[in-house]
Parts: sequence; structure tokens; C-alpha cells
Amino acid sequence: MKHKNETNVDEVYWETPYLRETDRAKVIRSDRRTMSVQVDRRGEVILRIPRRISRRTAEDSLRNQANRIDAGIRRVKNRLGVGAGSQSLTPFTPEEMEDMRKRAASDLKPRVAYLAGQMDLSYGQVSIRFQKTRWGSCSSRGNISLNALLVELPEELRDYVIVHELCHLKHMDHSPAFWEEVTYKMPEYKLYKQRLHTEGAALMARLP
Ligand SMILES: [Zn+2]
Repeated sequence: MKHKNETNVDEVYWETPYLRETDRAKVIRSDRRTMSVQVDRRGEVILRIPRRISRRTAEDSLRNQANRIDAGIRRVKNRLGVGAGSQSLTPFTPEEMEDMRKRAASDLKPRVAYLAGQMDLSYGQVSIRFQKTRWGSCSSRGNISLNALLVELPEELRDYVIVHELCHLKHMDHSPAFWEEVTYKMPEYKLYKQRLHTEGAALMARLP
């Protein structure tokens, strides 16, 4: 069998004062025989341990590997453009997300209306949602969806996403004609596109 049966698992979080780059590890107890530590793509430390092992033994093992684990988290943070030592890969709480959703609705919708007016375009509905992989989309009916995380980004990056989606009202693809349209409205867009990729990735990584 390739995969271990992990249906009967027990997941908890332990505080990890002996690590520099994070303050907690997710601990998964299951019917395995060995211990393993992994840093996932969001920078979370995942410790898999046999059911019967004591917390002290498991923590000793984490402590012994602290340098290697911290280095692994730093690699993820570098990739996501997050400063070393900061805690900013901590997942957003439900309260933080509710707050972002409200601000997104009140800030982004009027901005879409304003930019569409400048570009002389009309659109359908604007919806706001949390998405881990995209900043916005535009349907063939002209409805625009925006990622609520945009409210955490600087105004020029929000505007780039909105302009990008508005340009899809004219071209439903990423053809040269589409990019010409974006360039016409926002000549410096390539810089924003790049920044969105780096500055935005760290935000997306914090979605639970
Ligand atoms: Zn697009």
C-alpha cells in the first residue's frame, strides 16, 4: 500500500518556543512507527508521531532539529516574500477574514465603478470572495469576481487587478490585444503584475 491509513488521527497544535521562525507546530498522532517533521508549502511545521510516544520525547526531537526546521521555514518565507523572524504566515482568524470581507465590499466595489467609468465600460455584478489561487476573474456575462485579500494590498496593485478584469470585458483571453488594452490604461502594469505575484503570495498562503 502506498498510503498509510490516517483516518484515525489526532491533530493538535503545540507551541514551539525553541523555533525562531514560527510559534507552533501541527502535531498528527497516528498508527505509525516513526516520527517525521516536515515544513509544508505554507511554512507550517507538521510533526507526525506514533500514537504512544510521549510529548517530551517528540519535543526533544523537534528541539534537536530546530536549525534545520528554521532553515526550511526561512526558505518558504523567502519564496513568499515574507521577512525572516516575523510571524506573518500565521493563518488569518475568522474575525480577520470577516473584517477583510467587509472592507473589500465597501472599498473595491466603488473602485470598480470608478475605473469602469473612466474606461467607458459597463459590467454586471461584482462579487467578493476569498481565493487561494487567483485575484480576480471576469465571466462571459460581464460579472467580475475579486479576491477579498486585495484590500490588504497597496492601491496600485488593487487597481491593476480591477483594470485587468475590466479589460476582459473587451477580450475574454490573454491575447496580445488584451495586453494592449491593459497597457493603454496602465502603461506600468508589468511592474504591478510582478509585485502582485510576490507580495500577494504571502497573503494567499495565510488563508486557512
Ligand atoms: Zn486575466
